[in-house]
Amino acid sequence: MKYIDEFNAPDLAHRLLDEIRATVTRPWALMEVCGGQTHSIIRHGIDQLLPEQVELIHGPGCPVCVTPLDVIDQALEIAARPGVIFCSFGDMLRVPGTDRDLFRVKGEGGDVRVVYSPLDALDLARRNPDRQVVFFAIGFETTAPANAMAVHQARRLGLDNFSLLVSHVRVPPAIDAIMTAPECRVQGFLAAGHVCSVMGTAEYPELAEKHRVPLVVTGFEPLDILEGIRRAVHQLERGEHRVENAYARAVRERGNPAALRMIEEVFEVTDRNWRGIGRIPASGWRLTDAFRAYDAEHRFDVTGIRTEEPAQCRAGEVLQGLIKPTECEAFGTTCTPRTPLGATMVSSEGACAAYYLYRRMTGPAPQGSRIPREEMNPVG
Ligand code: SF4
Repeated sequence: MKYIDEFNAPDLAHRLLDEIRATVTRPWALMEVCGGQTHSIIRHGIDQLLPEQVELIHGPGCPVCVTPLDVIDQALEIAARPGVIFCSFGDMLRVPGTDRDLFRVKGEGGDVRVVYSPLDALDLARRNPDRQVVFFAIGFETTAPANAMAVHQARRLGLDNFSLLVSHVRVPPAIDAIMTAPECRVQGFLAAGHVCSVMGTAEYPELAEKHRVPLVVTGFEPLDILEGIRRAVHQLERGEHRVENAYARAVRERGNPAALRMIEEVFEVTDRNWRGIGRIPASGWRLTDAFRAYDAEHRFDVTGIRTEEPAQCRAGEVLQGLIKPTECEAFGTTCTPRTPLGATMVSSEGACAAYYLYRRMTGPAPQGSRIPREEMNPVG
């Protein structure tokens, strides 16, 4: 099959939509797993172009959104310590902890820095031997290889002033948890293409079989998403439940072997809490014993921090696809990107942020009224 880029995009979009319309005979609910896909869908109005029988449900695939409040508070505690340089991707700085965020810590004198790679943080550690440099290692399978590489390099270079605050999560156990929930309405998945480009697709056939759902590995461009939907609807209409790769230009069945080797050497599977969702068995990674010395949670003794989610925020339901952001009473009133109650309103991949950014609460945005993306994620 030709790459999507080789086609005339508007023509192909029409063809894909026509084929979906011609195929669908009854209602289907598909979940796009990744927050990047959610933003693409809302930004381009893909959900509004689909026949009304096809509903898109937004999934939990926003790494910033699912990082538990406990871990945010651990980050705030470490970042406020003297002698620490706390490094993070920009998205995390406005994520609310219990009583402040990393911006506030920075404003109060903490040395909080935005970096674009964990290797930038490693370089800071090399250049500041008298300081402790901590990198906030959050994310799905996509960010794990680079974080593993950073800690691997730290050990090779003998840098004992570098550590990771790890909150890595894995997609397949989350899909399993979503499908196991009694209130689940999802009948098919658009699996996250970038995750599969690292991990491959080997973990998915078992899930497709267990829950009898199609899993279509899908990219992030509008045409990728339409192609993923087309294939999922096709399978559903035919009563099939297979794993299909609609992102073959980036995803191989066995993933990226070098990245997998690095993850395997540095991380081991563990249970993880997901913000607003709760504990999901085997849904995360932590450093192995061999790399435990680089674990900031232990180095700074913040393991005991336990916190409660704010009752007003319904991000857990949003992340599980049980409600749309606009069904949260706080959406666009007490909760806005400037006054966020939950991470889904500040993350550049959060569903609440997507609905607010593209004015889904009031219908189509009047010209020039959209909030600039920079304001949603001012440092990212
Ligand atoms: S709109 Fe705000 S309060 Fe409501 S679920 Fe989203 S982040 Fe939470």
